[in-house]
Amino acid sequence: MTIYDDEVFKMACDQFKVIADYLEIPENERDWHIFPKRSMAVTCPVHMDDGSTLTFQGYRVQHHLAFGPTKGGTRFAPSLSMGETAALAIWMSWKCALANLPYGGAKGGVSCDPMKLSRNELESVSRRYMQEMIPFVGPYTDIMGPDMGTNEQVMAWFMDTYSSYQGYSVGEIVTGKPVAIGGTEGRRESTGRGVVYLIERAMSMMKMDPEKSTAIVQGFGNVGSVAALSLALKSGVKVVGISDHTAAIYNPKGIDVKAADQHVMKKGTLKAFAQDDHVDPKTFLTLPCDILAPCAVDRVITGENAGQLKCRILAEGANGPTTPDADLLLQQRWDEVFVIPDILCNAGGVIVSYFEWVQGLQSFLWTESEVTDKLFRILEHSFSQVIKRARHDKVSHRTAAMAIGVERVLKAKKVRGLFP
Ligand code: NAD
Repeated sequence: MTIYDDEVFKMACDQFKVIADYLEIPENERDWHIFPKRSMAVTCPVHMDDGSTLTFQGYRVQHHLAFGPTKGGTRFAPSLSMGETAALAIWMSWKCALANLPYGGAKGGVSCDPMKLSRNELESVSRRYMQEMIPFVGPYTDIMGPDMGTNEQVMAWFMDTYSSYQGYSVGEIVTGKPVAIGGTEGRRESTGRGVVYLIERAMSMMKMDPEKSTAIVQGFGNVGSVAALSLALKSGVKVVGISDHTAAIYNPKGIDVKAADQHVMKKGTLKAFAQDDHVDPKTFLTLPCDILAPCAVDRVITGENAGQLKCRILAEGANGPTTPDADLLLQQRWDEVFVIPDILCNAGGVIVSYFEWVQGLQSFLWTESEVTDKLFRILEHSFSQVIKRARHDKVSHRTAAMAIGVERVLKAKKVRGLFP
């Protein structure tokens, strides 16, 4: 038993075992590389609108300090636990290392349901969480960003709370903040855009014609909505499926993604959109399509449904959507399904977060096209390295991507000695 006991943490450990065996990491060093350097749990009492006081648990995990500060998103979700937060921090470490960013991975969040909080309550939870975290984070220690259940506004409250404590504006404490207070042009769209850049690369490798291809996107939040819009409006792909936590919609003739986006902006969810096309969320991911992009929660592609996926490209916009037993099945289907693993596929967000942090520290101002060009250059480099390694060593894309990340962290730790 450890404080990390949780299915998602176990999944990260199982994945690490595959990589550690492949890289022949000695057994006695493995705990050092998988267990987080530091983990914090905080209690956040908040006055609710009805006059009651509720207490929320908050977490922050910093995985390793070998390259510099840690970096990672903040998740507001009812089921969040220390173990899940740790798994997300570990994946973030490998993701940053694969993209050659000078960060260790971190993750944090609050166990709460942001959908059930009023704006005032959400602000109070955000500010209290940041206040409790002040001793543990900083622009050179640990930089926060958005994740599921948080957005630009939450980042603005984090920045304001931290800055009030310091006595001056410290924009570099968070990324993904509004452009009006030093956010980077294109950060909000960066994860979804990166997902689509890599889908286009995979399509061109597989000689697939975008105009004749179809896509299903699970999740219609920051990552999923941008990916679906970009696939439909920029790549010319027909989006036949979209979903969120309230509805799964499938129409082989195509979905008007722009109308869906406007609907969600007004109503908050897809619940009342295209009701005639609603399907069972359980079978949604196995419906026919060329591109499947899970952009919502973890562990949705499992041993149960991996054998039934009909897609040719699996683009993992979410963190941890595919379980290790599903991975074994997908490895057997390597010539049918081209997997773009999460630590590569959704790296666009942290890459542009890195640009935002650098611009903040140096007081630089980059245009959106400068940001996007740099983003695509880094993704291109990572993509080529993963494909090359997978082909050379005859391993899956996930193993190749994780191995490159793990190797870089190991090298930095070895060079520095035992401390990180
Ligand atoms: P978000 O909160 O903006 O949106 C989440 C979406 O998923 C919502 O549409 C929600 O309704 C939907 N959803 C929740 N549960 C679902 C379910 N069971 N089935 C179908 N849909 C469901 O979150 P986001 O920022 O878009 O993050 C989505 C995923 O992408 C997460 O795994 C996150 O860790 C990962 N990610 C996000 C970023 C980023 O920059 N935001 C970067 C890298 C990875």
